[in-house]
Amino acid sequence: MSVGDFRRVAAVVLAVVGVLFGVYLAGDEWARASVVLVADGGAAVLVLIGAVRHHPAGPLPWLLLAGAQSFAVIADSLFYGGFLFDRAWSFPGPPDLFFLARYPLWFAAALIWAHRSNRRAGSRPRIDVTLIDVAIIVVAAALLSWIFVITPLTAGAPDMTMLALNAAYPVGDLILLAVGMRIWFGGGQRSPALGLLGAFAAFWLCADTWYLFSLANGTFRTLGFTELVWIAAAVMVSAAALHPSMTTVGRPSADGHRFGTGKRLVLLGGVSLLAPAAQLVQYLRNDELHVPIVTATCAILFVLVMLRMSLLLGEQRRIAITDTLTDLRTRRFFEEHLALEFERSSRFGSAMGVLLVDIDHFKTVNDRYGHKAGDTVLREVARRLRNCARAGDVVARYGGEEFALLVAPTDRAGAARLGERLRDAVGGESFTLDDRTELLVTASIGVALLPDHAATPDELTVRADQCLYRAKNAGRNRVVVAGELPINR
Ligand code: GH3
Ligand code: MG
Ligand code: MG
Repeated sequence: MSVGDFRRVAAVVLAVVGVLFGVYLAGDEWARASVVLVADGGAAVLVLIGAVRHHPAGPLPWLLLAGAQSFAVIADSLFYGGFLFDRAWSFPGPPDLFFLARYPLWFAAALIWAHRSNRRAGSRPRIDVTLIDVAIIVVAAALLSWIFVITPLTAGAPDMTMLALNAAYPVGDLILLAVGMRIWFGGGQRSPALGLLGAFAAFWLCADTWYLFSLANGTFRTLGFTELVWIAAAVMVSAAALHPSMTTVGRPSADGHRFGTGKRLVLLGGVSLLAPAAQLVQYLRNDELHVPIVTATCAILFVLVMLRMSLLLGEQRRIAITDTLTDLRTRRFFEEHLALEFERSSRFGSAMGVLLVDIDHFKTVNDRYGHKAGDTVLREVARRLRNCARAGDVVARYGGEEFALLVAPTDRAGAARLGERLRDAVGGESFTLDDRTELLVTASIGVALLPDHAATPDELTVRADQCLYRAKNAGRNRVVVAGELPINR
């Protein structure tokens, strides 16, 4: 989003919020209730208008948001109607049924977006680190909610039904926080519309938590300041639906930001400290201490942080040993393994082989078809080489258009056969470029074995490299095994 775009959206949103706030603050209770109704009712209509005007690919989540706003209008009418006609409902009462009915619609909308934005092509199944991040935030928030909202709110409940009804709002808010964070941290595209939806959820959660907290403490005043935040939330959801970028909500982004930036780690660190901080506040205020539950929360948070750290370490290691273009192992990994395999081969007296594969006249491919086409060929060569190798063989990108295989244990005949299979895999079938152009590419291969041709790992690669150059000099597209003459073709 450009700075100009951001300023324009911010100016419009602030102007609308300003007008609504002005009328609300200047007006009497009737005017205030009307502003709340206009904001919620307006949002129901504007979200629908946004969905019709921009027609996003999967409009269901937007329709669900509009539906939730319609429930808000019914609930507002009942709640403020009762209040204005001096027949205020007790809590929880009939308006709460409609207020609560919004939660399933919000969850459904958020889950659909979270699911869509994490559907990335080619992503491998592994523990998703963003789920841990969401868990850290929700576990900490749940503790605060338990101490400051749920416990006081449910304290006087006469039976289980009332207890469940009282707890429904804060529990619903926690679930909303979870799915909201899942979308925010997930692999979706960031856009002004997503930012506005985030602001909607943030305003809503803050206002609701404050409402429940003041309700529990008996300090809530109907049509006071809390409603202002709900009004702002309704403006945010309307603006989100009206902004053209609303069509991108739920679309996966190319990079995904799975592991987050430093900012996210600072946020998670701060959030993890909330549990001991809450304990300290309770202690200083001489309030009831929730020692077992705070201790359990701290333990869970600690385990989650450790789990995240171990995943991060694993990811760093994976990046360090994986070539980004071809997904093969890196030269560093190859060399580490060569040293290890050398130890093992020496101990057990078994033979091992190194094969160096270099694409012939690859510069011509780049010159003639472009660098991008060259990359396509490199990826496909990598795939073909990997298909020829067995499990346990190391297949690495050794340099630009040079690949290395480490095979252990093997003998001279086995290594030579593998060399021929690799040569055939590269040169035997044409390569198809993005524009459907077909081209043929060949490779030259040098093979050397331990203990036949070298005494150390370094010497082994040098011998394989010498063989590779002999293969090039003999006319390319051939395999040369150390100690043998190149085969003429
Ligand atoms: P030879 O048969 O003697 O091996 O000829 P060659 O053209 O393959 O060898 P040379 O070493 O002269 O050129 C290698 C080329 O590989 C030059 C370089 O531009 C290209 N190359 C290296 N890395 C990459 C890469 O990541 N992507 C692409 N597209 N090209 C690369
Ligand atoms: Mg080459
Ligand atoms: Mg080369």
